[in-house]
Amino acid sequence: MDEFAIINSYFTGLGPELPEVLEAQGDDCALLQIKHGELLAISVDTSVVDRHFPAQADPWAIGWRCLAIALSDLAAMAARPLGFTLAITLPEADDAWLSEFSRGMRALADKTACPLIGGDTTRGPLSMSVQVQGAVKSQHHWRRSGARPGQIIVLLGELGLAHLGLLSMLNDPVKAKDSKAWNKAEKAYMLPQPLITEALRLAQGVNIHAAIDVSDGLLADLQHLLASSAVGAQIDLKRLPIQPEVLKALGREAALKATLQGGDDYALLLTLDEEDFELARSLCPNLVSIGRCVAGAGIRTLEGKVLDPQGFNHFLPQAFNE
Ligand code: ADP
Ligand code: MG
Repeated sequence: MDEFAIINSYFTGLGPELPEVLEAQGDDCALLQIKHGELLAISVDTSVVDRHFPAQADPWAIGWRCLAIALSDLAAMAARPLGFTLAITLPEADDAWLSEFSRGMRALADKTACPLIGGDTTRGPLSMSVQVQGAVKSQHHWRRSGARPGQIIVLLGELGLAHLGLLSMLNDPVKAKDSKAWNKAEKAYMLPQPLITEALRLAQGVNIHAAIDVSDGLLADLQHLLASSAVGAQIDLKRLPIQPEVLKALGREAALKATLQGGDDYALLLTLDEEDFELARSLCPNLVSIGRCVAGAGIRTLEGKVLDPQGFNHFLPQAFNE
């Protein structure tokens, strides 16, 4: 199977047709129509075998995952997906693998209404770069830099589970093969859910001042938002939801650490005015208020203890083959 046979069989007609996409594959560039009053949001993420997923992982899940982590960045900007490109490097043209990979990718492309509009196909060690494009309404685009003292910090999504799933797969990479047997944590790692619809609903209905997606751990990503906004934060650890599966598997101390520092959850952190919280909760019942922005820098508990924003990078061996 040559490059064009691969593209035709697996990477054509993937995801819905959108009116904004004037040209997808078939010319030298995809062409998108951006509406007046909208901004184009662009982000790219690369997934490398044995670094972001085990070599033997279920290809359906790999297809889902490499798109999901890119879409999470659109969610963090409240951008409506317009399309994505896929630069994929394959060691061989394995029909069964490609078919499952493209089915997993298609499932999420359909779910989030984000069509595949172009890409590049090459031979080499397995990796894929997914670039997503989205449209943001100019009047309510979200930035990291909009947090101010007094705003509350809210969390959308579950933390710590993906870290637990990663631990389990680092421990036993063969597990990654059998998606039917995955527990909640393994699913959280391999099949993250980008919070696109939730973000668009919130952007439409509530004044969100600042936002970021949590991919490298709560503290690390909160610190990025705080630094962009030149504020500090006070976190109420009693309000921080620790997932029961994480608590059960790791015990209280390590579970708290996984919740604060574990990566790969693709949750969202937002700041808003306290009086808007009930409205925000009526749109997204799972929102939890975990703290507040304060003048100064850094992250502290209510009791004044400094929380070191040391993320997933420093936390664990990241490779599945080490
Ligand atoms: P060019 O040489 O002009 O860069 P290519 O021959 O690489 O074009 O690709 C032909 C067409 O197929 C282009 O429209 C490109 O966007 C698309 N394409 C290539 N690889 C992929 C892929 N993995 N997924 C989706 N579209 C792809
Ligand atoms: Mg090319």
